[in-house]
Amino acid sequence: MRDKLFIDGRWVSPIKGGTLPVINPANEVLLHQAPGATQEDINAAVEAASAASSSWRKTTGKERAVFLRAISEGISKRRDALARLEVLDNGKPLPEALWDIDDAAGCFAFYADLAEDLDHLQNDFLPVPDERFDCRVRYEPIGVAGQIIPWNYPLLMASWKVAPALAAGCTMVLKPSELTPLTALELAAISEEAGLPKGVLNVVSGYGPEAGAPLAAHPKVRKLAFTGSVPTGSRVMLAAAQDIKNVSLELGGKSPFIVFDDADIEAAVEWVMFGIFWNQGQVCSATSRLLVQRGIASRLSERLAEESQRITIGNGLAPDILLGPLVSEGQYQKVTRFVEQGRSEGARLIAGGKRPAHLSKGYFLEPTIFVDVPRNSVLWREEIFGPVLCMNTFASEEEAIHEANDSEFGLAAAVMSQDLARCDRVAAALDAGIVWINCSQPTFTQAPWGGMKKSGIGRELGKWGLDNYLEVKQVTRYTSPKPWGWYMK
Ligand code: NAD
Repeated sequence: MRDKLFIDGRWVSPIKGGTLPVINPANEVLLHQAPGATQEDINAAVEAASAASSSWRKTTGKERAVFLRAISEGISKRRDALARLEVLDNGKPLPEALWDIDDAAGCFAFYADLAEDLDHLQNDFLPVPDERFDCRVRYEPIGVAGQIIPWNYPLLMASWKVAPALAAGCTMVLKPSELTPLTALELAAISEEAGLPKGVLNVVSGYGPEAGAPLAAHPKVRKLAFTGSVPTGSRVMLAAAQDIKNVSLELGGKSPFIVFDDADIEAAVEWVMFGIFWNQGQVCSATSRLLVQRGIASRLSERLAEESQRITIGNGLAPDILLGPLVSEGQYQKVTRFVEQGRSEGARLIAGGKRPAHLSKGYFLEPTIFVDVPRNSVLWREEIFGPVLCMNTFASEEEAIHEANDSEFGLAAAVMSQDLARCDRVAAALDAGIVWINCSQPTFTQAPWGGMKKSGIGRELGKWGLDNYLEVKQVTRYTSPKPWGWYMK
């Protein structure tokens, strides 16, 4: 575990000596004191990224792909150690952490290919309707990127930001969450081993107000890529406005899952649970609002209540665990407050709602299910970010779409029915950046990721993730031998 920041290719102590206590959420024991950066460290990191930019931006995509592939291999080589570190830091069950690490390695490999493709896209001619001109398009890195990430997928969120930025030719300062800084610092070590030139990637862990805010406000940062909550996203956007920085925001959600009455009930139970209990429900795209057609509602809720109580809960490093602790005491308090509020707002609790009896330490909460949740309640409308499912019923397709879209968020949605034409109709009508049909949550590096409404601006992953870090420049040349002849006939 690292106790230094990674700035300009060197491991350095925070200038003011700040630390971040890292607590193991499974037993509440202090694991480590990670480095806590302040404005002074952020300034040094941005200066390093800015200095490195002049040569890094001139590299070819093919040259950058070599580093991206080396980082991908470095992650794969340390797969087990990284996954264990993620469990200790975040609490997620080990099989989920292994999944994340594989995804992170795949993300760097994918953007290595896109970096190479970028070389072939440079200087593409556009067919303009005037033969006296030729018009080409160039793609250039935006410059220094400030990247601020949350704690729910620590290494994966870092990879979604760092890999496309490297592929585009940007240099960057990455600020991981104060709750889970460990694997992002390991990513810095892997980039060092991969021989990435100094200053290209700087990793600076710290608290939001002390390190995130100065990064968002730094005038030399030209791109801000943020993943986190809506209120912080809004602050980051305000900071970006000062210098008209390019900004992309991946924010929260309260995503609906619509189940029609022709759906296979057992398949619905499995996917609904996966949509809300995976990663302890601490998933931006968690399908936390379940809308079930009346005919199967009581059967489905009964089966969900039964199956959810079979989920094995415990320390993510123990065998066969499917639900770990919430990430921190603060998150545990927040989620349990929602559960209390749900009760007082008149929602009916049919499963969970309390700490499992066999676990006296750690931030554990049973898989929790509420039904008949009032439509205007906090429980139904706000993002809980925990293993708490809220269910209501609907009569018609029209009503389901209306209910699903009745939210200030628009990140993801799921629909389940054997009628695929209906699924496609509903998918088209939903206000969501991601729609799953007959499943929930599968995510592919190749496919765009991001939300509508208050769930954010822009898309990560796929070619759209690369676009986030590129400026598009047109180069138009006058090719005719004849004079222009407007003023000078
Ligand atoms: P958060 O907003 O509290 O913190 C996110 C990051 O912002 C952290 O690194 C934090 O230190 C930093 N930060 C805090 N205050 C800041 C400030 N004033 N200026 C700059 N940075 C600041 O969010 P969180 O609790 O870490 O994460 C949970 C949230 O993230 C949920 O709302 C979830 O939906 C969202 N999320 C979204 C996606 C997505 O892809 N849309 C993915 C994962 C998580």
